[in-house]
Amino acid sequence: MRAVLMGPPSAGKGTQAARLGTEFGVPHISTGDMFRAAIAAGTDLGQQARGFIEAGKLVPDDVTMGIVRERLAEADARLGFVLDGFPRTVPQAEGLGEILASQDVKLDVVVLIEVPEEELIRRATGRRICQQCGRVYHIEWNPPPGHACECGGALVQRKDDSPETVKERLATYRTQTEPLRDYYSAEGSLAVVDGTGDPDEVHRRIVRVFEGCSL
Ligand code: AMP
Repeated sequence: MRAVLMGPPSAGKGTQAARLGTEFGVPHISTGDMFRAAIAAGTDLGQQARGFIEAGKLVPDDVTMGIVRERLAEADARLGFVLDGFPRTVPQAEGLGEILASQDVKLDVVVLIEVPEEELIRRATGRRICQQCGRVYHIEWNPPPGHACECGGALVQRKDDSPETVKERLATYRTQTEPLRDYYSAEGSLAVVDGTGDPDEVHRRIVRVFEGCSL
């Protein structure tokens, strides 16, 4: 399975991609996670990416393409992958097409997860993450037991989940990423899935799409 999960910020791409990767036995590749790991490790890549991420903007295409090209060349990704949050621009989609063509393979499907804007804002701004174990809570729907995580770790809001940055990320999505809908629809690889409701139900919707692909 070679799949891309696309969608606005907080559509649930990360949650769904992680689960699909495990179930289909392919790596879950998230450019957002790769950037956050680089920031935490204080690498050059992290320094380059940080300002863009915290402002709700996209990391430049050349930087992003560099990390994806390296990751897709690794042995585990040669047999398949679920890409999460990449591509986010038309040049990135073209770059991905070139990488795959050089490996003589193609994408099976691009799943666009759709969620109304008001819900995206509620999802993102209510999200809290444990600094110690990485567990994700939501102050309304999945609240932590107290002021801290179950493991005792402190809960923080991702800097890019503040209301102002979430609005900026949504605007970035509309202008730079939404054109991919037409791009992949013209290629015949786009499937649109309703991302509202229970995550298990959203998962089942995506699995039905995967099962419809020629695996
Ligand atoms: P995510 O966790 O996918 O929401 O990504 C968090 C942030 O990382 C985004 O808001 C961007 O600033 C940056 N980022 C992640 N993936 C990409 C990408 N494909 N192109 C450019 N920037 C990205």
